[in-house]
Amino acid sequence: MSYWSLHPVQLLTFDLDDTLWPCMPVIQAAERAVHDWFREAVPVIAECYDIDSLREHRIRVARENPYRAHDLTGIRLHGYRHLARRHGLDEAIAEQANAIFRRERNKVTPWPEVAEALRTLREYFVLVAVSNGNAQIEHTPLADCFHHAFMAEEVGAAKPDPALFHAAADVSGIPLSRAVHVGDDPHRDVEAARRMGMQTVWVNRNGMVWPEDLPPPDHTVSDLCALVALLLDDH
Ligand SMILES: [Mg+2]
Repeated sequence: MSYWSLHPVQLLTFDLDDTLWPCMPVIQAAERAVHDWFREAVPVIAECYDIDSLREHRIRVARENPYRAHDLTGIRLHGYRHLARRHGLDEAIAEQANAIFRRERNKVTPWPEVAEALRTLREYFVLVAVSNGNAQIEHTPLADCFHHAFMAEEVGAAKPDPALFHAAADVSGIPLSRAVHVGDDPHRDVEAARRMGMQTVWVNRNGMVWPEDLPPPDHTVSDLCALVALLLDDH
């Protein structure tokens, strides 16, 4: 009996940031694009805030609104509105700045093996993206790779809360006992999914050491080629 005949799988859920693409470069580029736009369109903001102080301001806004911490887009917009009001500017600039951030946030660069691996897996499983971040998968280079996608801000809570996993089960009609979650974060991905009775795959691209205080993942892979081999070689 193969492993997967004992653990039949129909649904794969995927974390996005740092699982399918490196997150920090795209955030930094998006913050730069917003600041460039401020310099052109609202110079008073660009003169008062550099990129770091804009980031600090947003973090402060998030801290003051902990009940909305999962709503990254809402927090960012709220922060830009606050800046507009503080400087006596039209709040419409907040929407414009936020739209620029969103557009740039979607310009992710998936690791080279990712798109083909997902397209292969898509032929065998239902694929659902479940992200704490706010990249809109339909506007990324992976637009055609998933059957469904959910962001924390759409379901009202970020992983490790189970809301994203429930959303994936509901939309696919597949129970979490027949699902594998794939992600890079030991707590928010692997442990959160394990607690929901899912199979877990830890994507460990950088040879990190698994945290001692957590039960180990069911499987560990270094990239998505290894995931395809893990899930399909046995089928
Ligand atoms: Mg991640």
